[in-house]
Amino acid sequence: MALSSNLGYPRIGRQRQWKKHIEQYWAGRLDEEALHEELRLIRLEHLRKQQEAGIELIPVNDFSYYDQVLDTAVMLGVIPTRFDYAGGKVSTKLYYEIARGSKDQPASEMTKWFNTNYHYIVPELNDVKPQLTYNAPLEAFREARHELGVEGKPVIIGLYSFLKLAKGYRADETSQWIEKLLPLYVTILKELETEGATWVQFDEPALVTMITDEALEQLRYIYETLAKQAPSLRIILQTYFDSIERYEDIIQLPITAIGLDGVHGWEQNLSQLQAYGLPKNKWLAIGLIDGRNIWRTNLSEAGVKLDQLLHLVESERLIIQPSCSLLHVPVTAADEAKLPAEIKQVLAFADEKLDEVVQLTNRCEVLSEQWERNCIETVEAYAAFNHLEQRKQQQTITERLNELLEQGIARTASFNERYPLQLEKHQLPLLPTTTIGSFPQSAQVRAARSRWRKGDWTTEEYDTFIAEEINRWIEHQEQLGLDVLVHGEFERTDMVEFFGEKLGGFCFTTNGWVQSYGSRCVKPPIIYGDVTYRGPMTVKETVYAQARTTKPVKGMLTGPITIMNWSFTRQDIPKEAIAFQLAYALRQEVEALEKAGISIIQVDEPAVREGLPLKADAQARYLEASIAAFKLTTSVVKPDTQIHTHMCYCDFHDMIAAIREMDADVISIETSRSHGELIHSFEEQTYDLGIGLGVYDIHSPRVPAAEEMVELIERALQVLDSRLFWINPDCGLKTRGEEETIAALQQMIQATSIVREKLLSGVVHPS
Ligand code: GLN
Ligand code: ZN
Repeated sequence: MALSSNLGYPRIGRQRQWKKHIEQYWAGRLDEEALHEELRLIRLEHLRKQQEAGIELIPVNDFSYYDQVLDTAVMLGVIPTRFDYAGGKVSTKLYYEIARGSKDQPASEMTKWFNTNYHYIVPELNDVKPQLTYNAPLEAFREARHELGVEGKPVIIGLYSFLKLAKGYRADETSQWIEKLLPLYVTILKELETEGATWVQFDEPALVTMITDEALEQLRYIYETLAKQAPSLRIILQTYFDSIERYEDIIQLPITAIGLDGVHGWEQNLSQLQAYGLPKNKWLAIGLIDGRNIWRTNLSEAGVKLDQLLHLVESERLIIQPSCSLLHVPVTAADEAKLPAEIKQVLAFADEKLDEVVQLTNRCEVLSEQWERNCIETVEAYAAFNHLEQRKQQQTITERLNELLEQGIARTASFNERYPLQLEKHQLPLLPTTTIGSFPQSAQVRAARSRWRKGDWTTEEYDTFIAEEINRWIEHQEQLGLDVLVHGEFERTDMVEFFGEKLGGFCFTTNGWVQSYGSRCVKPPIIYGDVTYRGPMTVKETVYAQARTTKPVKGMLTGPITIMNWSFTRQDIPKEAIAFQLAYALRQEVEALEKAGISIIQVDEPAVREGLPLKADAQARYLEASIAAFKLTTSVVKPDTQIHTHMCYCDFHDMIAAIREMDADVISIETSRSHGELIHSFEEQTYDLGIGLGVYDIHSPRVPAAEEMVELIERALQVLDSRLFWINPDCGLKTRGEEETIAALQQMIQATSIVREKLLSGVVHPS
């Protein structure tokens, strides 16, 4: 009999109770004991749900108070040395200080979990002395057995991936760290074995990225040791997010089961399975249900995959599961009462996916009538869904797109021809100053929006309020002496939702929350149909702002790749096609802005970097499509219209060439946390288009002094041409207070005057 399994369940709870309790604890409104009790109840409820769904291998130790990587570090005694820690069990207080910073110490760095929008806390090894502070998987195993009679499957982040995710050591010290940490893993396993656990899941997602010979040796050493020390445990070596590398070698490790993604990288995984087979004594755990998206599984298609697998493996050695932890999808589609039935019927969030897992597991044994009925029901649901008008626009869009692509999507003039025209037209000085787009979303702005949404205010009242905010901030910007102004984005909650609500092809859930980092959750829009342009989205506010000043006002759009990466996307057409539909729609907005007299337009692409696939060959294709989508969006304008873009949240030094190819007249890049590094990469690669490196960090309320910024600017001017250099903050200012924003911008303007003067008198040599 095949087994049904799950890799991890969302921890946030159906009503985001998890988030609320934790935040109350932080705010001092819930004491520690109550926090433990509340989270225990949530944890048990989740186990119960999986039990009731009929999942046989229920994950334990997948729950967390913040992040599973932080949990692993804390369990292994990997506490950054700047925190006071004398050994032993780590307190809840210290746990959250590492995640969020304390009065005296900065938090640990947070970064994206592979190619997802989930952020983990980066373990810092440096000179910590590892110790097993407590056996978390064992505790979780005991709790599940004791409270619910569940024989759980402990989930542990594998040592190989843990080290790949950690920092504070050199690559050539990896073996030493394995020596230090492996004994702790051995103890964890031995205790689990003694307790009577059967299955253990080691998450090793790093195995989908390149594995060197040396790394393979390390993996062999780790898993041989673990298998030898806890021989009766059945180890599942779990990979996800793409196809495994070096399958033929990995499968020889002394593990009981190999866990493969059966959705992302399915073809490669299947062909490796077919080429090398599965040793007779091993199990295959296959993720046939997409753990990264919110669509109901097409059961017939999954059944076909299953049949292919059943040629290679007997059902006795098959485990059916989601492609990855369900952490990346919302809890249940049952609460989405507001969506049209045709859409709701084809949604499957975590709970619905568990049912699908069970259905597929049963399908391994018999083609039951129930199965046939479920297949037919899925087919009918998708047929009704496909019947929606918005799903039938593709042909028209594609025809128009092909025409455009044939005409070419390059600007009509080269940068060297365009840029002087733009400077001239907008009367821009040396080192032009600007901001990234948003100004403070104050409590008043948020209150106004909620009044309007609730119907307490008419649209007219709300629009008047927004207009007044724009007025006020145009005045501030003029007084400050900025060169390129913005309207401030007061009408936007979120840079993706705002556009999604105005474009065709999007729908929005009521409760489709997903954890992004710590207690922060996001509710991504769903692109369910063809993206269509329904009319101007930003023209009114931008034109209103422009009418109030003689300085140029920069229009502000979110780019196609960012909108796509921060949404759940349809799966029946390639991602590229979605990106191009978005680009074509945004191109029409660019056109509309230009036609309305706006001649500087910024297209933000902060999320380009995070969508980068895990495999090198796919990366090149992705970048190529991203560049094309950006050019399609922006190339419609006249040479003297200036296109800006903005990127943030990530290290960009490995993609400067791709950014250059997007051919934006000006880019602003966040550098607050990596200024030095980025400047370094410009030493090696020239950047010969307009560029602004953020000169101060907007993530902190601190107002930096002009001198600090002068220093940063001068450092940048050693590697970048001063005639192409722009001065701006790091990112949008929407999270900042009004006073500190104005104060910081004053300093920025002052810093600019100082450097301009030096440049004009020849003290700093322009490069
Ligand atoms: N224009 C946006 C803003 O200023 C950019 C936001 C972002 O980079 N994430 O808020
Ligand atoms: Zn930004």
